[in-house]
Amino acid sequence: MPECVVCHYEISKGEKPVVLNGRPYCAECVTVCNRCGRAMIRGTHRIEKARGKGYCPECYEHVLFPVCSSCGKKLTAKRSISRLRSVYCPECIDTPFCPTCGRPLGIRHTMDRSGEKRCLNCRTIRAVTPSKTGKLYARIVSNFLYYFKLYLPAGVPVHLVRFSDMQAAAHGGELRSAGIFVPGAHPNILGNIYIVPYYPEEYFVTVLAHELVHAWQYLNWKRKDYANIELREGMALYLEYEYAKICRYGAEIDGIERMLEENSGLPHIAGFRRLLELEKKKTHDGLIAFFLSI
Ligand SMILES: [Zn+2]
Ligand SMILES: [Zn+2]
Ligand SMILES: [Zn+2]
Ligand SMILES: [Zn+2]
Ligand SMILES: [Zn+2]
Repeated sequence: MPECVVCHYEISKGEKPVVLNGRPYCAECVTVCNRCGRAMIRGTHRIEKARGKGYCPECYEHVLFPVCSSCGKKLTAKRSISRLRSVYCPECIDTPFCPTCGRPLGIRHTMDRSGEKRCLNCRTIRAVTPSKTGKLYARIVSNFLYYFKLYLPAGVPVHLVRFSDMQAAAHGGELRSAGIFVPGAHPNILGNIYIVPYYPEEYFVTVLAHELVHAWQYLNWKRKDYANIELREGMALYLEYEYAKICRYGAEIDGIERMLEENSGLPHIAGFRRLLELEKKKTHDGLIAFFLSI
């Protein structure tokens, strides 16, 4: 029977040792950084705790002292506010929306050739292209089938649009997200996804996955269940979060956890919280079975 190289605990048949560099460790002696996914060994690496989760020293620093993504000021976690998965100082968060990406323009923004204001974030980023979008879509579909036994609908048109143009698809409601699934008006058309491509690819992937979950719900659920915001958004956020963890998208995991803390009053977040509670009782597989039974 293998023995943990740190605490010499004998790992029995039912338990799985964590094998690092060919050496076995018990689950107690290895911590995975909640943000970057690095494995840390008790007694060898420094392991920091924040919000009840383990982090490596670099990620811990990032969680406690985020940097304003507009002006670059170093902040404490308490002084920062996030919007669309980026963190801002109190001064930058109060500036108007960037029409291209929807994040705050920030106190230091620029103008593009047509004289329109753009934030520094989307000025420096290469937009996700339509062909790349097709590849990411296919990958999400195959991953969701493998990990969640969920067969996301193929062929939902994905429109890459500026944030200000996406607002039109939201029918007047002021949209605070980076994407939206709009159900089709005609019964033979499932619907359309509108998504802003001026974000880091990891964020784009998680948003696309989220909107595809809505398309799946619309296809498979009764209208009254689809109309239940807590259930609909809770499930989409839960799977987006689980998917970010599988992909080891540290910044997204961080962003979703931040959202949980900052917007606890929203029905989306309330639904998400309820599902996280339910997961403790039912396990992840139990939750998936519940989604499929709706
Ligand atoms: Zn051990
Ligand atoms: Zn880390
Ligand atoms: Zn700032
Ligand atoms: Zn922008
Ligand atoms: Zn949603």
